Amino acid sequence: MPRRIESPSSILSYKQCPRKYYYQYIEHRQTKSNIHTLRGNIVHDVLDRFFVQPPTLDNDTYMEKCVTHLRTLFENEWSWQKANFLKMGMHPAALQTFYVETLGMLSLWLEKFLTKLTATTEPINDRFRALTPLREQEFVSPVHAVKGYVDVIEQENDVVRVMDYKTSSKAELTDEYRLQLGIYALLYHEKNGAVPDSVGIYFLKHADHYEKTMVVTDELLQEARFAIETHHLSTVSDRIGDYPQKIGPLCKWSTGQCDFYDLCFTQKKLS
Ligand code: SF4
Repeated sequence: MPRRIESPSSILSYKQCPRKYYYQYIEHRQTKSNIHTLRGNIVHDVLDRFFVQPPTLDNDTYMEKCVTHLRTLFENEWSWQKANFLKMGMHPAALQTFYVETLGMLSLWLEKFLTKLTATTEPINDRFRALTPLREQEFVSPVHAVKGYVDVIEQENDVVRVMDYKTSSKAELTDEYRLQLGIYALLYHEKNGAVPDSVGIYFLKHADHYEKTMVVTDELLQEARFAIETHHLSTVSDRIGDYPQKIGPLCKWSTGQCDFYDLCFTQKKLS
């Protein structure tokens, strides 16, 4: 039987709860958007579009033009998605707080970008082009049967960095993030024949811990290979009984519940 094409998300889903993985990736049941995934999509879209049609800059007004450009992209995206937040039951006052917080994340990103933009004496439009990263790249590995979308690939002076944007409230390179970044490094290596110099995360909510990176080592790549291969071995079956429930805090919490909570616990009562 051909191996399923996995992703960092599917592998992490299995680690969180095998039954959750079964419902989502074997039965292909739909999962619901939530306000955090919707906000994450808005931020990713705005940061991608920022580079699609950049403004023409000059030395006197480039800051104002970049601010206006980013703000316009954000306002357009927000007004388009606002109804979806309200449909999810978000109170207008909470939505306003969310709006301000999201704008703050984008402002932090722009502040860091403008710092890089002004760091040399190169003509401003050339510098902007040089700082324009590769974005939203899909990598698929036939060797490892895994794929992933990389937010940002930066290259400057032959140094390559693979970076991901996160809107999470904690700015820590957790084991989960380490695995995700290790898989990206592996995918990049397989496609380009060379490993990136480093991988990391832009934590958009944290001015003090905005950027965390790690050097790509053989150990990191080996950990990623091991996690992928053990995952494939654990998920050969397509029988629900081989994917046990892992009952814990991810089933239900104070503000929400797992997408499969009702399904899981209804089945439990019937069995
Ligand atoms: S409700 Fe709990 S046990 Fe069921 S799939 Fe979700 S996390 Fe797993």
